[in-house]
Amino acid sequence: MEHPSVDMNDFVAWRQLCQASIDLLKGAAHDLPSGSSRKLTEEKIRHAEDMLARADAMLAKELGMLLCDCTWPPQIMRRRQSIHYCPNCNRQLGGRSNRDEPRYNPFRDFMTS
Ligand SMILES: [Zn+2]
Repeated sequence: MEHPSVDMNDFVAWRQLCQASIDLLKGAAHDLPSGSSRKLTEEKIRHAEDMLARADAMLAKELGMLLCDCTWPPQIMRRRQSIHYCPNCNRQLGGRSNRDEPRYNPFRDFMTS
């Protein structure tokens, strides 16, 4: 399915907004008195951050971006000129995105392995 109104810049802006929200929550948790309530709050924020990373990976896949399975949830590969690279393991793939041809699909591979 095409998403003509959503592009990489929109995605990056979305991701930055989400990260700013998580950072605000972490800051608020840090202001709590230390103890079990603070630890529980910090754990819930880590859980929310993990769920957000999974949602980001799914959205990136929908937008035709390449993913790398060196972590779970998968890393969203960045683009530098005609090369896609993983910001975590620096794995590189050349040329086209999976909008044209699926080169790698960790969701599919995860489901069939
Ligand atoms: Zn990687």
